[in-house]
Amino acid sequence: MTILGATGSIGRSTATLLEAAPEGAFTVEALVAGRDAAALADMARRLRPAIAVLADPAGLPALRDALSGTNIATAAGPGAVREAAMRPTDWTMAAIVGFAGLRPILDALSLGATLALANKEPLVCAGELVLRTAAASGATVLPTDSEHNAIFQALDTRDPAMVERIILTASGGPFRNATIEEMRAATPEQAVKHPVWSMGAKISVDSATLFNKGLEVIEAARLFPVPHERIEVLVHPQSAVHGLVQYADGSLLAQLGSPDMRTPIAYALAWPNRMHAAVPRLDLAALSRLDFSAPDETRFPALRLCRAALSAGAGAPTILNAANEVAVARFLARRLGFLDIARVVEETLEALGAPPANDLDDILALDAGARVRAEAVADRLAA
Ligand code: NAD
Ligand code: MG
Repeated sequence: MTILGATGSIGRSTATLLEAAPEGAFTVEALVAGRDAAALADMARRLRPAIAVLADPAGLPALRDALSGTNIATAAGPGAVREAAMRPTDWTMAAIVGFAGLRPILDALSLGATLALANKEPLVCAGELVLRTAAASGATVLPTDSEHNAIFQALDTRDPAMVERIILTASGGPFRNATIEEMRAATPEQAVKHPVWSMGAKISVDSATLFNKGLEVIEAARLFPVPHERIEVLVHPQSAVHGLVQYADGSLLAQLGSPDMRTPIAYALAWPNRMHAAVPRLDLAALSRLDFSAPDETRFPALRLCRAALSAGAGAPTILNAANEVAVARFLARRLGFLDIARVVEETLEALGAPPANDLDDILALDAGARVRAEAVADRLAA
């Protein structure tokens, strides 16, 4: 197996499961990361892949040094990342963050093996292309985002017409009960301090704006045979119920578990079977109650924007995602206010509309153009 985005939050959770598995159960082909040579080398010494690859060539000397005396090959640069993604494996974890994961995902899918998909942005930006690539090679895409994994587990596919709606839960993030004034003044430290989940910085900010849930509505519309009007979001602060499927007979099937990504990752690792995962078991008596409420779309316009992009179709989700990536990076660098993240996305979408996005070239061009426009909008808002 291969892990793309090995040193991140999902990558490390995946590595933990591999290490805990019985000797010889898994062998690792490639570990791929962005720029942290020390963290990648450390993981490589434990998991013994054939090759360890960094996207950033500047880290290669340090990676080579740290792995000298092992028989683990090293490489760096975007080309090396793509080559690593194309090395034959049975199973690949897609856990790079953002649009940057798109090409390696397409490369991995071209092998026709199994791809555990955590990296949601490529599915948002290029959903049709990703699914077409998988269909062409016969690859299996396993939903690994916790909500989608829950729905995958609860979805009875024998009679798709009997699925009435699917429900994604959202913790509500750190600003669930914040006033609009508090949100306007929110710092990156406050935004990434998620009440329930421990995740990378980008998805933590997305959870605070609810863009994460909006991206997940688009992700669900790509993955499951349900039109987006029938994909619902409920705020559920305990994050015990991850996703639900409502059927025509009134049955509502849910998947529950601790808010720990090792459970969905283990499901994807062992699928169609199950494996042991040493996650804390959900103690329902200790929890004693489960709360649900409708999201507040006034303080959190992200859901409305994501649904609008999904309805507009074509290149709109690509533009939305690019603008959000730009806005989140600027917010984390203290160059944009928290509430302005949604404004950058909205204004970029309004300016660029929904141009055609039929192939990878279209999508790469749209992404690049939307980033330029979003930077200009953000410059104006931050001035
Ligand atoms: P993270 O920031 O913790 O990790 C990202 C990983 O990608 C790191 O290993 C980094 O080195 C690598 N990377 C970054 N840019 C790269 C590039 N250009 N080429 C190769 N590698 C690169 O992020 P994360 O929280 O683990 O999230 C990863 C993806 O999974 C995101 O798309 C996120 O939305 C999704 N996801 C995460 C969680 C979670 O609990 N963390 C849950 C559901 C979905
Ligand atoms: Mg999720």
